Amino acid sequence: MSSATAEHRAHELRQLLNRAAHAYYVLDAPEMEDPVYDRLYRELLELEAAHPELITADSPTQRVGGAPAQGFESVRHRIGLLSLDNAFNTEELEAWYARLLKVLDRDPSTALPMVGELKIDGNALALSYERGVLVRAATRGDGEQGEEITSNVRTIGAVPLRLQLANPPEWLEVRGEAFIPDGTFAAINSERQARGEALFANPRNACAGTLRQLDPRVVAARRLDFFAYTLHLPPGWPAAADEAPVPTSQWEALQWLKAAGFKVNPNAELLPNLAAVEAFFQRWDSGRRQLNYATDGVVVKLNDLQLQDAAGFTQKAPRWALALKYPAEEAPSRLLRLACQVGRTGVVTPVAEFEPVPLAGTSVSRATLHNADRLAELDLHAGDTIVVRKAGEIIPEVVRVLAELRPAGAQRLELPHTCPECGSELVREEGEAATCCVNSSCPAILRGALRHWVSKGALDVDGLGSKLIEQLVDRGLVGSIADLYRLDGALLASLERMGSKSADNLVAALEASKNQPWHRQLYGLGIHHVGEVNAKALAATFASAAELATAASETPELITGVYGIGGEIAQSLQQWFSTPANEQLLGQLERLGFSLASSEAELAAAAARRADGASTHLGGQTFVLTGTLPSLSRSQAQALIEAAGGKVSGSVSKKTSYVVAGAEAGSKLSKAESLGVAVLDEAGLQALLNNA
Ligand code: NAD
Repeated sequence: MSSATAEHRAHELRQLLNRAAHAYYVLDAPEMEDPVYDRLYRELLELEAAHPELITADSPTQRVGGAPAQGFESVRHRIGLLSLDNAFNTEELEAWYARLLKVLDRDPSTALPMVGELKIDGNALALSYERGVLVRAATRGDGEQGEEITSNVRTIGAVPLRLQLANPPEWLEVRGEAFIPDGTFAAINSERQARGEALFANPRNACAGTLRQLDPRVVAARRLDFFAYTLHLPPGWPAAADEAPVPTSQWEALQWLKAAGFKVNPNAELLPNLAAVEAFFQRWDSGRRQLNYATDGVVVKLNDLQLQDAAGFTQKAPRWALALKYPAEEAPSRLLRLACQVGRTGVVTPVAEFEPVPLAGTSVSRATLHNADRLAELDLHAGDTIVVRKAGEIIPEVVRVLAELRPAGAQRLELPHTCPECGSELVREEGEAATCCVNSSCPAILRGALRHWVSKGALDVDGLGSKLIEQLVDRGLVGSIADLYRLDGALLASLERMGSKSADNLVAALEASKNQPWHRQLYGLGIHHVGEVNAKALAATFASAAELATAASETPELITGVYGIGGEIAQSLQQWFSTPANEQLLGQLERLGFSLASSEAELAAAAARRADGASTHLGGQTFVLTGTLPSLSRSQAQALIEAAGGKVSGSVSKKTSYVVAGAEAGSKLSKAESLGVAVLDEAGLQALLNNA
């Protein structure tokens, strides 16, 4: 990056991050997702490291938190409160530890005991006690000065007003985290909703907003909680030898706090080395979902307090502690290109290609933008910084654009007017979201149809991958599904990366695929809305292509009479069977040896199933549907689940077996994640349904 570009980017990032920090720390109403803030902050840090001349006094990298809010008295902390440095993966943890050993002048192989604590997603409080009595409570503020909120903190049951110490020191300082348990957070937001007030974005902001209430009765009603984690005693205390020994380690400090009457998080552990720290972090990645309060990582602290002193601090954070954060599910990235994919049904999907970002444990560099409307709604421009989300198993998506970081003069991006594959005019029917290529000989559509035909759930032909299909279509060797069965071994053997052995195997696999059951053949035809489950249901009722074609044109009510099949599918079948090219294809397949009908054995099995009632392999399992699934409507998904014996419920609880989440899934998805309920996308649901 040239220094002018770096300067420009640093300036933009500073402005954006400072505004976000104000919204977050002062207004308690964040404007951006935390992981997005974290990554942009990292980018600024890296820019400043590469170009130190760009560091300004107002850079968010130079300050802790936000300035104290107005309306509260500002107090200077006896001992400053710092932030924590972050690590997002094992390598960063190891690098931190290596730096720590270097600062302490220890051999790189030294194992230093550490304490692992949960990183509670709340707000740091500074509590001051004099002779064992709480005299003052303050927020962290900018680390040196915070807001005095003593009367509010007195309402928190977990903060002792008087310590259980026989001979309390003249003063002592305790730091810990005030937080709102999940259930209370949900209740606060629903009350706010009822009153038409803005909702809190997350428990941490709700907690910060509560601590800054001017009326302590409101604070009391919000039932805040508190975990203590840091103890500062006056130097030289205790004077008398018979008093409780002064802790010499973080672990002892936690026990001391507990004995003095504080609530200390019970999940802290003494960890002998870095491997134990990693294991602790991994364990809590899933374990935290069972907790009734939010955590956003774990904090690792050097155990020995003398060594902590020796390691010291950087400008913003102690060198002896580190926050290890869980994989982000949202992150910013820079758009590289808007690609357009033409699917096997001709639907053109805009796809954002961007700089790879780690999300929910994998590296992501592409995300669908669904359709022209979504593209317009995002207002995407070339070179934009975008926010990408991938939660668990969910397909990555572009959530929004950070327009503040848009390069000057950037061009607005739209879908092309012509098919990127065959150049024919694209069509968008009125009232439809999809833009389509309607040229049935478009190579992209043909390639998609062939890929689908040979795929696992359909004819399951081994040895015919995407690359080979591309060659066959590009060289004009295959113009339809039927053409695949006319390929001879010698011709195949002459293609790139094919030998005579693999060519012979492929011919044999194609031949064998003619014996696949009728429902797979039907699914393989790729009729719009006829997925694996629907194909099975249809094939169980209509024993051949001929029967199905007749019903589609003459008695569609017989089709919609099949459990789980609606009018949309009946219409799509009617359209497909009445298209001459498809009729031709069926004729050709029959001549090539396909039965396009159920075998005797399949007919007998279907009859037995009917006598037995519907398949019930999902019996006893409860599903919750949320968001928009790519192809199934909500009622279709529900019908399919119920047809397989499952139940569909409207709310998520610990008893929910699966949450099926699509695009724009909302609070049900977050609830599932917090309860550790398995989340499926549409493909996952289909797999479960098919697994009869
Ligand atoms: P931090 O939250 O990453 O870490 C420091 C804090 O961790 C401490 O102050 C303390 O409150 C807390 N903590 C919880 N458990 C702890 C434990 N066991 N031991 C010690 N500390 C513990 O750092 P920060 O400086 O408070 O804030 C940065 C965070 O705020 C980032 O995660 C960032 O995403 C978020 N932020 C978000 C926005 C936004 O717009 N979304 C803006 C500014 C900051």
